[in-house]
Amino acid sequence: MSIKKKVLSISLSSILAIGTVTAVSIPANAVGNGPNTGNGSIQTSILHTYESMVDYLKTQDSKQATMELEVIGQTVKGRDIYLAKYLSNPDNPTILFLTQQHGNEQLTTEGALEFIKHLGTNKLKDVLDHVNVLVIPMLNADGAMGDVNFSLDNYLADGDRHLTRYNANEVDLNREHDKPVNEMEAEVRALHENVFSKYDIDYMIDLHHQGTRSQTDGELVSGSILYPTNSEVKPEVLEGSKKLGAVVYNTLEDTGWGHIGKYNGGDGANIGRNGAAVRYDISTLLFEMRGMSDHYIESYALGQKSNGYLIKQTITTLNAAVNAIADGSIKTADTSFWDTLPTQTNRAEEEDE
Ligand SMILES: [Zn+2]
Repeated sequence: MSIKKKVLSISLSSILAIGTVTAVSIPANAVGNGPNTGNGSIQTSILHTYESMVDYLKTQDSKQATMELEVIGQTVKGRDIYLAKYLSNPDNPTILFLTQQHGNEQLTTEGALEFIKHLGTNKLKDVLDHVNVLVIPMLNADGAMGDVNFSLDNYLADGDRHLTRYNANEVDLNREHDKPVNEMEAEVRALHENVFSKYDIDYMIDLHHQGTRSQTDGELVSGSILYPTNSEVKPEVLEGSKKLGAVVYNTLEDTGWGHIGKYNGGDGANIGRNGAAVRYDISTLLFEMRGMSDHYIESYALGQKSNGYLIKQTITTLNAAVNAIADGSIKTADTSFWDTLPTQTNRAEEEDE
């Protein structure tokens, strides 16, 4: 466990006030703007707020003829949950990108927003004739804004706000997916009623962040992936998931900076990766990027020096998936890499998907 930020700032200022700072041993991780994980301070102020994200989506909607913006429901605290849609043809295959079921996992949202802008460029115009794309950025907006009914005092990040895994009711939204719809938390209910049930979705990438210390072959990973592992998933749905994973894996390993492990995940249908596959026959892929945007455990949160490549990793992933579905190459993707992909191990304790 780490030192609490507030305690730290009080002790530092009192040290400075009596002018004995050089004589006192300050922990290395306490220098600068607060605790860090050796990768710079953990700053939330560089991230989109919910409000700035909504502004961004509305701006893109007004600029992009092929994009439609839909409100699929409201969070516990009443924030509208947005779905960006590119639906060129109902006969096309459809992929859904979902981010921030966990509010403290935000770089995937930053990447998804960049990708939405990218979809509006001429480069992607032909591609969008052959694939339908759905994007839900920031499902858990209350958690992302730290607007919750429990204390976040021991969270580490600096900036205007804290971000937390849970929704306002302190519920883990990625453990709700096996419930009857009317018993789900508001955010998950909106996803099931107004997206999973309403659209004919073939593929989904569920985007998350894991801790900072996962490794394979002695090297820290940039992320990890996993297909649905529940025994009720149909073989052809599982095969589609493995192919989606192959597209993502091959693209990232080819970049030189991507290093991907296999996530060690549970088989419960309460997890989105499994639940969406079992209930709606969606070929799902879990993608866990390295490092969370805020946490109370220091080894989980990643400083901002790594933001650039993690946002890029998201954009690269979404772009690869959309292109492979549009040109049909996903159908012949070689899934054999899964047989040899090492399951990541942890240098320190890690949090679940
Ligand atoms: Zn997560």
